[in-house]
Amino acid sequence: MPRITCTRLLAWDAAHRIPRHESKCAALHGHRYTAEITCAAEALDDRGRVIDFGVVKERVGKFIDERWDHTAILMKGDPDPVAQAVAASNAEKGRPVYWLDGPPSAELLAAELGRVAGELLASSGVTVVKIRLWETPNAYADWEP
Ligand SMILES: [Zn+2]
Repeated sequence: MPRITCTRLLAWDAAHRIPRHESKCAALHGHRYTAEITCAAEALDDRGRVIDFGVVKERVGKFIDERWDHTAILMKGDPDPVAQAVAASNAEKGRPVYWLDGPPSAELLAAELGRVAGELLASSGVTVVKIRLWETPNAYADWEP
């Protein structure tokens, strides 16, 4: 039996910086991120789908809208004063910073989204089999469980 997957794209705007980066990515800056969320299921449903694309948008898109869009995604314990300043300022505006366990590289954002999307979609009987996370139009990272 062929393997069928489906992929939903979601996009958001966020700032980040990479602590200890060798050059310009150490400075706080922003991206228009795009994630490709690929799901697989044991079988297609009676409407011929892995999962309704709208369910991925509703659940994972809600997480992205609430936690990642129009804020900063920073490393827990980031020693740069800008990190603490942005955290305080964004919290006042109702856009708390999202603290990641490691540096907010495309790779680790892909891994975080893979973990979160997997949890949010598990009750629909699907597995998130791949996240392709575009940091710029020219650069992406892939995560697979
Ligand atoms: Zn960047």
